Amino acid sequence: MPKFHALTPAAGSGARMGGDLPKQYLPLAGKPLLCHSLACLCRHPAIDRVFVVLAPGDREFAQHDWTPLGAKLEPLYCGGATRAASVFNGLMAANAAIDAEDWVLVHDAARPCLPFDALDRLITDLREEKTGGLLALPVVDTLKRGDAESYVVQTESRDNLWQAQTPQMFRYRLLLEALHATDPAAATDEARAVEQLGLRPKLVMGDTRNLKVTYPQDLALAELILRSL
Ligand code: C5P
Repeated sequence: MPKFHALTPAAGSGARMGGDLPKQYLPLAGKPLLCHSLACLCRHPAIDRVFVVLAPGDREFAQHDWTPLGAKLEPLYCGGATRAASVFNGLMAANAAIDAEDWVLVHDAARPCLPFDALDRLITDLREEKTGGLLALPVVDTLKRGDAESYVVQTESRDNLWQAQTPQMFRYRLLLEALHATDPAAATDEARAVEQLGLRPKLVMGDTRNLKVTYPQDLALAELILRSL
């Protein structure tokens, strides 16, 4: 039986947040943001190991107590220059613990409010699939294409358009192959790398609460969501 593992790239600097502390360590509801992002993964009974990929020079992780998350957590100090490189390095470093056909769920450190139900839906809907897939939300806003001066060029159709979230769930061997073949600067998510092999990941209904903390004002919203989960 294939196992399930999670891998969280957390080696970014979070430049859009400003400040010195990388985004994943900003305080959120009394804990580092990263702690919330890992907690849901650690709590799911189907998930065997939770790897967290840190920058090689990370000094912050060791300053915190991660024991409340349990024994599944394993830090890997092998982050790369891009998100895709961090994921690829992490997959390579975790090689001994993962079989070729095992599932890997890649989840951004910057998504601290992943509801358990959404994670469970992803695993349940994809476990019999061949390729895998991702949480995503149908686009609800009207989409405008703008020019360099921010004037509208045209309104785009939102039919069949989805916003990608994480986790994204693929078989270990496929994910390694896809990331190896991709340009790390262009691969903003795993699904894109898999698509470039000519495969079609499945879209699984995500959750609006699974927001990506990007700007300082997102923290207050994330805190409200966490209190309601
Ligand atoms: O910067 P952004 O929010 O797009 O980063 C998405 C995720 O990728 C975050 O969890 C971040 O820590 C991670 N990342 C990484 N290594 C990089 C850049 C980003 O692990 N070099």
